[in-house]
Amino acid sequence: MLTKDYLTNLFRDVETKYAYQVEFIQAIEEFFNAIQPFLEKNPIYVEKDLLRQLIIPERLIEFRVPWMDDSGKWCVNTGYRVQYNSALGPYKGGLRFHPTVNQSIMKFLAFEQIFKNSLTDLGIGGGKGGSDFDPKGKSDAEIMRFCQSFMQELQKYIGPSEDIPAGDIGVSSREIGYLFGEYKRLNNYQSGTITGKPLLLGGSLARTEATGYGVVYFVNHLLESRGDSLKDKRVIVSGSGNVAIYAIKKAQELGAMVLGCSDSSGYVIDPDGIDVDLLQDIKEVKRERLSEYVKVRTQASYTSEKFIWEEVTEYDIALPCATQNEIGELEAKQLIDNGVSIVAEGANMPVNLKALELLMENNIIYCPGKAANAGGVAVSALEMAQNAGRLSWTFEQVDIELNHIMKQIFDTCQTTAKTYSYENDFVTGANIAGFERVAKAMLIQGLV
Ligand code: NDP
Repeated sequence: MLTKDYLTNLFRDVETKYAYQVEFIQAIEEFFNAIQPFLEKNPIYVEKDLLRQLIIPERLIEFRVPWMDDSGKWCVNTGYRVQYNSALGPYKGGLRFHPTVNQSIMKFLAFEQIFKNSLTDLGIGGGKGGSDFDPKGKSDAEIMRFCQSFMQELQKYIGPSEDIPAGDIGVSSREIGYLFGEYKRLNNYQSGTITGKPLLLGGSLARTEATGYGVVYFVNHLLESRGDSLKDKRVIVSGSGNVAIYAIKKAQELGAMVLGCSDSSGYVIDPDGIDVDLLQDIKEVKRERLSEYVKVRTQASYTSEKFIWEEVTEYDIALPCATQNEIGELEAKQLIDNGVSIVAEGANMPVNLKALELLMENNIIYCPGKAANAGGVAVSALEMAQNAGRLSWTFEQVDIELNHIMKQIFDTCQTTAKTYSYENDFVTGANIAGFERVAKAMLIQGLV
């Protein structure tokens, strides 16, 4: 059968079977579109119908999370863990606590994670988990009770050699601390069970910074490969959470001017460059809304209830670091009109397929999340190595290793794209390179 027909038929099956899982179908479509040239050169994977195995998670766990709020009311949420693929190692991927979480979002994130983890060249498989619990507006005691109840169930399925969760949207070191505490109570102290831990609990220096720094390192390697640099580049970042804050910090350190950032209520444009210490104080320390920023920085403007990609202003680099599908066709058109030349994804799948097509048609260099935001999981794997050896590396050691891994991922994506005659197409490069290792590992292990 022709590879194209194989992929078309399989995609049709996916659409029919999972019709209601929109994000999952989107992730599969992007992946299928990209790997056709690889399958044509390697027909064994079509002969074995390997993709049909790959698209079904090895295990999908859904569970009830009962908890009590401060007023004594009984509450309940749904918890998930998708153990997608362990061909390369134990499942590894974050936990997301956000009201939009559902099976489709969990599956798309876990599917992406398989190839992201593969690209790091480390021995980790792909997984993801979370809950539709909304930490916003909850007291510290409510967060703790929720995390404890969530872990009472999740702990049955995880462990340092089986499945190692970390953070994601709504799960920062506070939540990780409570999750880890409950795991320890039930299973004794095993520091390698969760990553992104606070330092006192065996966390790694530079893990907090890793995803944001990693995105900027990736862009920096891209620019360097073209004899350019971040110096004086104008950048806009969406989000003001973990990934966004450290992307802003590193971009500024490397000489860029970061003009704006956002949260789910609106966005800020600061013509003098975002004051990242102030941003951290508002969002990380005080957990307030971004609108507080303009009360201190009066030269900045705040626009409520709009997304930052609607902003009409000239800039060079867009770093979407908030959430999936934040850039659709309209936003992509605006980016093009604004003169953007690079879009690098700090978030997972923030650009939808129509927008992606438009960006590519307009020769905008697009760096997909599975490559550009792999720094977080890479440093998580370094945290596991430190835990296993009972060591603590210095910030510099971890940071140098992170930069090295991002360079290797960039080179792999660039070389792979070139090998398949898709020069500068990092979507093709990242998907093929990520898939190749997983596919080979699946084949060697036989039908399991
Ligand atoms: P955080 O929870 O720390 O921050 C998320 C930010 O995005 C917040 O500013 C939030 O606004 C904003 N946001 C969330 N949902 C929406 C929405 N629907 N519309 C507009 N803004 C929104 O999460 P992270 O920074 O950890 O994660 C951000 C992205 O990066 C996610 O896609 C995640 O999967 C991805 N990622 C994260 C990694 C990590 O190590 N943390 C690793 C790799 C990828 P508000 O403050 O109002 O909630």
